[in-house]
Amino acid sequence: MIYDVIVVGSGPAGLAAAIYAQRARLSALVLEKEYMSGGQVVNTYEVDNYPGLPEIGGFELGMKFREHAEKLGARFINIEVRHIELEDEGRVKVVYTDREEYRARALVLAMGARHRKLGVPGEENLTGMGVSYCATCDGAFFKGRTVAVVGGGDVAAEDALFLARGCAKVFLIHRRDELRAAAILQEQLKKHENVEFLWDTEVIGIVGDDHLDCLKIRNKKDGSERMLDVDGLFIAVGTIPDTGFITNILQLDEGGYIIAGEDGKTEIPGIFAAGDVRTKQLRQIVTAVSDGANAITSVQAYLNTL
Ligand code: NAP
Repeated sequence: MIYDVIVVGSGPAGLAAAIYAQRARLSALVLEKEYMSGGQVVNTYEVDNYPGLPEIGGFELGMKFREHAEKLGARFINIEVRHIELEDEGRVKVVYTDREEYRARALVLAMGARHRKLGVPGEENLTGMGVSYCATCDGAFFKGRTVAVVGGGDVAAEDALFLARGCAKVFLIHRRDELRAAAILQEQLKKHENVEFLWDTEVIGIVGDDHLDCLKIRNKKDGSERMLDVDGLFIAVGTIPDTGFITNILQLDEGGYIIAGEDGKTEIPGIFAAGDVRTKQLRQIVTAVSDGANAITSVQAYLNTL
């Protein structure tokens, strides 16, 4: 069988694509690597920036997306994609997995991106219990409190600025003695009296049982170690897109993201990218969902040309 479209990934972008594909009456299949749909959102304690659903649990929101797609008849297969090839001069896309191979006229690639982890003790246990990878999602929970941001890029700087507006104190912990963030962000940061830079410093442990108590930090220059009391830790040390299996056919940017605009079009006709996996300004649930809808609109236009 050749499907109209195969969606790879079942985070908010993939599930929105599945919903729009069903409503467009396309023959569609969603391939999901994880047992749980919803992508990163299901690991988020609370989502308070998705319009119309204030303070919804991340898991609940992920399940709502999935149930919606299922209600419309979307078909899911839990399987890992290994690579993609083109047949019939590109008109057929073949998706090879760890078990079967599937064919479609169009693909929507929505594999998402993972936040890079620090890889230190306590990080995994305390994620969602004081440790977060998204200041705009979770910052409001720390109003008037003391937090730390780790990282030196644009995201870390923007997170620290965002948090400085509502938190009593923000430590910006960076492993070197200068940020790589845009100069303008650095200037803005220096204007905030409640932001303190901890240079040449790394977080070597995150301490707490059922919530974050403090951080264990080390000064890289003199090797000294100490505890830092904080209520929240925002880890902003970059993201890693899940694009390893498509490097044979698609050009990626230097960060590994699929080069595609808002319409999802990639350099290959009939292959579209949606959500965190594509080059874009803002990686959030609301923009991922919009990408899924746009990608299916582009799929329909593409199918009409065949
Ligand atoms: P990034 O620019 O790659 O910065 C990651 C930061 O984390 C770097 O400062 C890096 O340190 C640090 N880091 C990496 N691994 C670490 C580790 N294991 N432990 C401690 N620190 C670690 O990532 P990003 O800030 O997420 O930004 C991603 C991309 O989006 C960038 O191209 C950025 O310019 C872009 N962006 C643009 C805007 C904007 O234009 N408004 C906003 C947000 C993001 P080093 O500096 O020592 O390498």
